[in-house]
Amino acid sequence: MKKFDPSAAINEYLVFGEFGDVNPSITDSSTYTFQNPGKMDELFDHEIEGCFLYSRHWNPINKYLSNALSKMEDTESAQVTSSGMAAISSAILEICSTGDEIISGRTIYGGTYALFKNFLPKLGITVKFIDIHDHSLIEKSITDKTKIIYAESISNPLLEVTDIPAISKISKKHGLKFIIDNTFSPMIISPVRLGADITVHSMTKFINGTSDCVAGCICSSHDFIAGLVDINSGATMLLGPVLDSFRAASILKNLHSLHIRIKKHGENALFLAEEFEKLGLKVFYPGLRSNKHFELYDSIRNEGFGYGGMIAVDAGSYENACGLMTRMQEEKVGYLAVSLGYFKTLFSSPGHSTSSEIPEEEQLKIGLNKGLVRFSIGLDNDIVPAFEKIKKCMKEFNLI
Ligand SMILES: *Cc1c(COP(=O)(O)O)cnc(C)c1O
Repeated sequence: MKKFDPSAAINEYLVFGEFGDVNPSITDSSTYTFQNPGKMDELFDHEIEGCFLYSRHWNPINKYLSNALSKMEDTESAQVTSSGMAAISSAILEICSTGDEIISGRTIYGGTYALFKNFLPKLGITVKFIDIHDHSLIEKSITDKTKIIYAESISNPLLEVTDIPAISKISKKHGLKFIIDNTFSPMIISPVRLGADITVHSMTKFINGTSDCVAGCICSSHDFIAGLVDINSGATMLLGPVLDSFRAASILKNLHSLHIRIKKHGENALFLAEEFEKLGLKVFYPGLRSNKHFELYDSIRNEGFGYGGMIAVDAGSYENACGLMTRMQEEKVGYLAVSLGYFKTLFSSPGHSTSSEIPEEEQLKIGLNKGLVRFSIGLDNDIVPAFEKIKKCMKEFNLI
C-alpha cells in the first residue's frame, strides 16, 4: 500500500477566517439568510457549495472540521456529531431497518455493546457478537439479512488488532457495509484506505485530547454522508446529533497537534509496556513484538505514529487492581478515571466500568479478567519517573 501521512493531509487543508484570520471564524448562528426565496428552494433540493440553511444540517465550522477529518481518514467526505455514540448510532440507523442483522466483534466499547445488545433489538435490528478474528466464523454468520460488519480497529480493552483488509474482502463479497471504530488509533490506522466503508470516531478521546468535551465523527463516501444529511431521510439530519460550533472550532485547533500527541502517547506507552513485560507482568500492548497481533499491526499501520497510547495490565484480582489504581493516583501517576486520550495518564478497571455492560460470563469468555487495569498513557516529557512510581505501587501489592 502507498505510504500515507494523515497529518500532512490535514496540514494541506487551509481555511481562513472572515478577515483572513489564521483560524476560521466561529459561526454563531443557527440559521442563515437568503437573498431570495428561489435560492432557498434550490438548497432544499440539493447542497450548494458555500451556502448554508440551518445549523443542524450544516454550518461552516462543522463543515471545516468535517473536511479536515476526511483529509485525515482519506475519505471523500465526513460529518461531525455531538458524540462518538451519536456517530455510531447514526451510521447504523442510516443503513439498517427492522429485520436487518449486524455482525459485530465481541470486544467492543461498553456503550456500543449496550446499544447493540439492548437498544437496537427494540427496533427489530439484531446483532450477532462473534470473535472478529475468526474470519470463517464471520463468513458463516452472514445471512441475507446481514447489512453491516462492525469492529474496532484496536479493540477495547484488550487492544486486539482487527485485520481490516481481510474482513473488507468478506464484506465486499457479500455486499455489506464494513464499519470501523477508529477511536483508539487515529492517524495510526486509516480504515477506509484498508477497505472499510465507514470510519467512526469518538473525538472525545485522542482527536480532541483535552477531555473537555464530547464529540464524534463519521468518515465515508460522498454518497453516504449526503444520505446522512438528507433533509427528508438522513439519520443525522433527522435524529439531530449536531456538534456545537464553538466546540467544533476548538477541536479543529487541537486536531492540528494530534500527530505530535499520538507519537508521544505511543512512545511513552511502548516504553512502559516493554518495562512491564520485563518485570514479568501480563501486558496487553500491540506494539510489543511478543504480542499476537504485532505483525498484523505493523503491516497495516501508517508509519511514524507509533502503536498507540493504550496499555492493559493484568493485576491478578479486582482487589489488586483497585488498590493499585488508588495508590497510583495518590502518587500522582495520573487519574483514576474512565476515558482516554487525555494529556495526563488515566487508568480504570474495564470490567467494572467501560466494559461493565458486557455480562460477566461473556467477559470471562473474551479474556476480560476482573484484575485488568487499562491505562491511557499521558504526554509526560519523561515517562521514567512515572514508571518508577508505578513500580513502587506494584511492589506494594506483590505484583512484581
Ligand atoms: C468513548 C468511546 C465511544 C463513545 O464515544 P462518546 O464520545 O463517549 O459518545 C465509542 N467507541 C470507543 C472505542 C470509545 O472509546
